[in-house]
Amino acid sequence: MNALEILLLLALAATVVAVWWLRARLAATKAQHLRELAEQRGQREAELHAQAERTTALFDRMVEGIIVVGLDGKIRLANHAAAELFGFKLPVQDRTVLEATRHHEVAALVARLEIEPAVLNHELRLDRVTETRFLQVNALALRAASGARDGAIVVFHDLTRLRQLEAVRQEFVANVSHELRTPLSLIKSAAETLIDGGRSDPAITARFLEIIDKNANRLTLVIDDLLLLARLDSGRVELSLGTVGLRAAAQDALDDAALIARARGVSLHNQVPAGILAHADPERLRQVLANLVDNAIKYGRADGNVTLGGQALAGARVELTVRDDGPGIPAEAKSRIFERFYRVDKARSREQGGTGLGLAIVKNVVQAHGGEVRVESSPGNGTEFFITLPAAKTVAV
Ligand code: ADP
Repeated sequence: MNALEILLLLALAATVVAVWWLRARLAATKAQHLRELAEQRGQREAELHAQAERTTALFDRMVEGIIVVGLDGKIRLANHAAAELFGFKLPVQDRTVLEATRHHEVAALVARLEIEPAVLNHELRLDRVTETRFLQVNALALRAASGARDGAIVVFHDLTRLRQLEAVRQEFVANVSHELRTPLSLIKSAAETLIDGGRSDPAITARFLEIIDKNANRLTLVIDDLLLLARLDSGRVELSLGTVGLRAAAQDALDDAALIARARGVSLHNQVPAGILAHADPERLRQVLANLVDNAIKYGRADGNVTLGGQALAGARVELTVRDDGPGIPAEAKSRIFERFYRVDKARSREQGGTGLGLAIVKNVVQAHGGEVRVESSPGNGTEFFITLPAAKTVAV
């Protein structure tokens, strides 16, 4: 072999090695690239998965019920709120809207979207065994990116609470009008009688002036109570909180009520132990106790007993009780007596000068303190009101 041949052989060997090396590099780079791609794909998949989970959680946590319907009229997706409203189980895929909701109006709404693809507003009344719910339904035809129809989405807003509040508001306005109109018309007719000549007889004049005075006072009471409740509702009543000794507060309330108690022959008893301290506004507490004691005397037994008691409770709370030995409150009325203008016996309450707002004020004032009020009563066995308030913080020695 000559030198040229050797050189050629070496060049060939070098080329083979270079090609092998290049191939190995290429394979390694490719493998590295594939690894990176796989890693990126894994990350992307994890991100998509997390995003899908977040969307599902959001979808399920929405208060509005949502149903997504496919082109075949079958449900693709529904959230918990929709399942709860219509009482179906999740997942609900592959059932029609009618099968899942058992409501023709909802199915008809989805069907209407074929000719009317805009958002449709509809009010739906759901009569259930235990309650009636009112829903506002919005339906919208869905479109794919190409513009082709792609099913529909139906959203249900629960309007029940709003409707209930509206009913309470209407009832309240009707009650207020009635409470104001009754004394006003009595004042008006008494004044008219006097103007029309009733003044010639001093006895008649005195009687009608009394009617005017009594009803003007009544109007003042109702308006004062209404204004106080409005201020309590809007949180405009500022409490001047301090340490209040409950025994002394109970005694003040009983002293204030001594005259009307005597007129009914009712004996008043203060059994609140000394040393029980509440963190409360003394003036507001006085008003609460005045309303409860006044009621106990008015609705309790003539010649009966009204007793105030109290104790310290666990959890830094104190309790005050007002008990009478009167006829009690019927079971069906117990849950309603704290409502505005609710009275067990309307005529009796009015005759006693009640506005029907006393217990509503008690409840609002006690709640403004962070406390609670409840009643225990059974017909024939008297009535006992319980109020709890925060205890005053005693300084550690
Ligand atoms: P009112 O101005 O009519 O007294 P309240 O809100 O103070 O209004 O009380 C509402 C109703 O609760 C009263 O009309 C009465 O029917 C009932 N009530 C309150 N306290 C007692 C009680 N101690 N015993 C029996 N019924 C009571």
